[in-house]
Amino acid sequence: MDDQHVIIIGGGPAGLTAGLYASRAHLKTVLLEAMIPSGQAYMTERIENYPGFPDGISGRELIERFVQQATKFGLEIQQFTKVDKVALEGEKKVITAGEKKFSASALIIASGAQANKVGIPGEEEFTGKGVSYCATCDGAFFKDQDVAVVGGGDTALEDALYLSRLARKVFVIHRRDQLRAQKVLQDRAMHNATIEIIWNAVPKEIKGEGMEKTLRLENVKDATERQLAVSGVFIAVGQSPNTDFVRGVVELDDHGYIITDHDCATSVAGIFAAGDVRQKGLRQISTAVGDGALAVTAVEKYIEGKT
Ligand code: NAP
Repeated sequence: MDDQHVIIIGGGPAGLTAGLYASRAHLKTVLLEAMIPSGQAYMTERIENYPGFPDGISGRELIERFVQQATKFGLEIQQFTKVDKVALEGEKKVITAGEKKFSASALIIASGAQANKVGIPGEEEFTGKGVSYCATCDGAFFKDQDVAVVGGGDTALEDALYLSRLARKVFVIHRRDQLRAQKVLQDRAMHNATIEIIWNAVPKEIKGEGMEKTLRLENVKDATERQLAVSGVFIAVGQSPNTDFVRGVVELDDHGYIITDHDCATSVAGIFAAGDVRQKGLRQISTAVGDGALAVTAVEKYIEGKT
């Protein structure tokens, strides 16, 4: 077990930025990634709100550039290395991934979050091609078109309100006759002429050709069906952070996100969290990248303080 200065868990924008900063600062660093470097951004067909790319860039290309830049400074990436456990041995952080064990003075958790899926036919097939889990990322592609948002929580209504400024019509599909979202968002949505709420309905299938999609809905009260013609389907049925492997090690909020201070420090000295995995107000590539940089600066201070 080779001792590192820092281990980074997760190869999305936060983890790769942390990898770039740490390698460039000559910290002995290994990044562990369960698959290949990717993150939720990798799935996005066109990213238009990440500065520096006025014509937009595909998520895949952006991540590939992040990898190129970080490895140029010597970052070691261990792909297909899924972390099972984080433990503390004195001040050392010991990470187990299958048969492999790693140990480091500091740890940056950048394992991200995943949008919950509804689990219906067509959902996976059309992800990035009409099905989206991020209205602020992809809403602009549906200007003056009809779209649907699935869910009745804060995210669904915030998405619907955001989309109402772009789309011609926004249908909110909710499985009950009462919304879960905050009252203020409910009021705004109810008074928005572009938004129509379809109550007591669940999506059963997404079909489509090119831009046109058909969302098959079922009424949960009387089992009647309805076909909705839309160009985009935004799914907002909650998100889950990838934090199972640190449960009981660092402090999490009620939704499982890691609680940090403004320098990305967790409740355990020497463990930091960056990107979507931490409790924060805006989960986007630009904020993940900022976290990655901040976390490494905090790691350097932590290591300097110790040596
Ligand atoms: P959420 O509060 O868990 O709401 C998820 C919504 O999706 C609920 O309306 C739920 O229906 C519905 N849903 C869940 N599974 C479904 C399924 N399989 N099929 C159809 N519908 C399904 O998630 P969220 O809206 O992402 O919010 C997560 C947390 O972040 C919340 O605490 C929220 O308050 C917070 N948040 C806050 C803000 C803000 O303050 N501005 C913005 C966004 C999020 P039911 O209602 O029937 O369960």
